[in-house]
Amino acid sequence: MTFYEQFDDRLSAEDLGLIERARSFCRADFRTRAHEAYLRDQPFDVDIVRQWAELGMLALQVDRSVGGHGASYLCKVRVAQEMAEHSFAAAFALNNMQGMATRLCRDGTAEQQGRFLERMMSGSVIAALAMTEPQGGSDLRKLATHVNRVEGGWLLNGTKSWVTNGTIVNCLMVLAHTATSSGGSDIAGYLVECEDGKGLTRSEIRVPGAQSFRLAEITFKDYFIPATAQLYGPGEAIKTSLEAINAARVHVAAMCVASLRSALGSAAQYCGSRVAFGKDVLQHQGLRWELAQVATQLEAASALVFKAAAAVNDRRDARDLAARAKAFAIPVAVRGIEECIRVMGAVGASSKHRLSMLHSEVRMAAFADGTQEMLLDRIGRTLNEPSDAKPNANVAADTRQS
Ligand SMILES: Cc1cc2nc3c(=O)[nH]c(=O)nc-3n(C[C@H](O)[C@H](O)[C@H](O)COP(=O)(O)OP(=O)(O)OC[C@H]3O[C@@H](n4cnc5c(N)ncnc54)[C@H](O)[C@@H]3O)c2cc1C
Repeated sequence: MTFYEQFDDRLSAEDLGLIERARSFCRADFRTRAHEAYLRDQPFDVDIVRQWAELGMLALQVDRSVGGHGASYLCKVRVAQEMAEHSFAAAFALNNMQGMATRLCRDGTAEQQGRFLERMMSGSVIAALAMTEPQGGSDLRKLATHVNRVEGGWLLNGTKSWVTNGTIVNCLMVLAHTATSSGGSDIAGYLVECEDGKGLTRSEIRVPGAQSFRLAEITFKDYFIPATAQLYGPGEAIKTSLEAINAARVHVAAMCVASLRSALGSAAQYCGSRVAFGKDVLQHQGLRWELAQVATQLEAASALVFKAAAAVNDRRDARDLAARAKAFAIPVAVRGIEECIRVMGAVGASSKHRLSMLHSEVRMAAFADGTQEMLLDRIGRTLNEPSDAKPNANVAADTRQS
């Protein structure tokens, strides 16, 4: 039985071919380049975006009719896992770009698709979601960014923070308050082409060891956006974002599983050849049991992630499963990688091995797409309901998102 067998058993030959393509790319020089960039405290080389696009990976879930691969959600998860075995942050960042192309293909107007879709698939337009603001991310409804109607469009004002790929994005889906026809205000979504200097400024958010997320804060001051930029009307934007979050939680959890699997492989290999007191250290029962614990938790996390991913893929209500998968997999991965570093002795923490990089990157998963408290809150709400995923038309729209 292979580690990803549950996934692979359900995939078409075409999906499996895409995963194989991703695997070959990631195991070649991508692995080394991502690690070398980490050691320089730099993000991965931006040329990797172009190469990833050339492999068709940014068009993974875009419809075939417009040049994409129409891949399944399970395929998308497996592709992200192939990269997360080598760099969690790069997998997160590239998956983010791919998710935006998918979103545009699904929800964009013909005008928006004509303007952006091909360029998103080729990597020349890098897009991201801009929801979080400096005053908070969990409570989306309190966001302060807003638009005001002007001739031909809107003026956008506000600051968005923690934008993935924010230092290089040239297109953002911005959540902002807008006036409603009833005289009130609600949150809408705008597809905003980013041109620095014309009322848009950005500043990098540096997180030690996590430069490959390319996080940034982006401020709009009377930034003009055309009338055609609205992607989601008032009331639709929050709903769509919350629907999309289940798929996002599951693939983040899946990437954590892949990073831990990779760390465990490295630790077991090293400990199998490092000799102390006359035998390799893996033969010492105390150490072997520690890695056995990590392996057991890894297997459990993977099983839960698969269950949640299958629910998303099959368009069943995955809200509870997605929260459980992320709430379980993230701490398992963070602590598991830490254990792997520790059992290797001091060398585990050195630049010679990639484990410190994986650890620095994976710990960031605790914040994106729902903090631990938000996830537990979600799980707690359904404790007295049947736990099986149910068909749900609202959530069906979510299955190819993010
Ligand atoms: C790597 C990375 C990538 C990201 N990418 C993006 C992106 O592309 N676009 C984007 O918009 N955002 C992005 N984010 C931001 C992310 O979505 C937010 O960090 C997240 O929503 C949490 O918001 P916050 O950090 O402002 O914490 P806050 O919302 O301020 O929360 C602070 C603390 O309070 C806790 N808390 C809040 N409410 C409750 C409650 N009701 N009960 C108990 N505890 C509570 C939280 O769990 C947290 O521990 C990214 C973040 C990271 C780390």
